[in-house]
Amino acid sequence: MVFVLLLVVVPTGSYSWGFFGHRFINFHAVFLLPQEMIAFYKGNINYLSEHAVDADKRRYILPQEAPRHYIDLDHYIEDGQLRLPKNWNQAIEFFSEDSLQAHGIVPWWIQIMKFKLTKAFAEKDKDEILKISADIGHYIGDAHVPLHASSNHNGQLTNQLGIHGFWESRLPELFAPTQYDMLMDKASYLTDPLEFIWGRIYQSASAADSVLVIEKKLSTSMEGKNIFSYEKRNGKYERVYSTIYSTKYHQALRGMVERRMRNATFAVASFWYTAWVDAGQPNLSEFSHSK
Ligand SMILES: [Zn+2]
Repeated sequence: MVFVLLLVVVPTGSYSWGFFGHRFINFHAVFLLPQEMIAFYKGNINYLSEHAVDADKRRYILPQEAPRHYIDLDHYIEDGQLRLPKNWNQAIEFFSEDSLQAHGIVPWWIQIMKFKLTKAFAEKDKDEILKISADIGHYIGDAHVPLHASSNHNGQLTNQLGIHGFWESRLPELFAPTQYDMLMDKASYLTDPLEFIWGRIYQSASAADSVLVIEKKLSTSMEGKNIFSYEKRNGKYERVYSTIYSTKYHQALRGMVERRMRNATFAVASFWYTAWVDAGQPNLSEFSHSK
């Protein structure tokens, strides 16, 4: 009977931090906001968490959505040098828009979302503020995931299919709630948000190799037995990376997932805060506190 059930295993093809991770990041970002913002955001914390994955849902219906979630930075490396200008107007002088879109536009999309959020604050458009806050939190979260900055985004080039969801969904689900320390400094004003997010993307890109190489080493070592197990979810058995293998990988990464998650959370709060400041610090207490 068990074997029959195994045949209906659903591959876990998730994008970006997974439902859990995006919720977790948007939720914890709220607590890093300054006094003038925190009541409004806390009053809407359920909305901000639940809608943290709307952007991924849009990928199924909007063809232009997918490139907003990643950038294949390795595509632009020539002779060990990154050949991609940070500024969109300069990038477009070197590469066609089609080519830029094909390899992902997450830093520039975050810049656009930042403008939109500032505008929503300036117009005191409560629904837009919440919608864009939830969305920008998603894209910023994605920008912190190493495999979102690599063309080998699901280990397809190195025979490690599934590693994308392993790193960004399975590991946080298993370890974040009990092990991650989400207390950190309050949000900062970002004098150059584009430069800031590029910095985070460079960090992601430089961690991508470790994400892949460490798992490869583990899977081909004596430790790499029992990589998968089956867990029942929503009435179906799904193949998952086993808890024991996940624990070994998580340890071998030496806190990387937690660091990226903390950095993402701080970045989300800082973008929200910066947009609010740039809009002239509108009084958010004028809004009723929940959507
Ligand atoms: Zn995404």
